[in-house]
Amino acid sequence: MSKAKQTRSIRVSGRRWPVRFNGEAKGYFAICHDGLQATPRQIVFNREVLRSDRLLVDSLVHEMLHAAGWPIDEAFVDGFAKDVARELIRFGFKRVKK
Ligand SMILES: [Zn+2]
Repeated sequence: MSKAKQTRSIRVSGRRWPVRFNGEAKGYFAICHDGLQATPRQIVFNREVLRSDRLLVDSLVHEMLHAAGWPIDEAFVDGFAKDVARELIRFGFKRVKK
């Protein structure tokens, strides 16, 4: 099992967000549930994100921004996450297999 897949939670602005990796995020790479509806507060990643460092970073930043501020515009969140992922990969960041 990958290190990313073993991650059980993400801390954002002092709050712990449970993390799951499964196939529920159909049509999405990840979903951030705010816990205000029937689904409990959590971030669900599609296993597809584990195939690429860039996709994993993009999805992590994207969902963490949603968790940090729900009113933040989706287009801003999406563009910022893609910018961060692209630049981190350009600077050579990548997962280390252990
Ligand atoms: Zn989004």
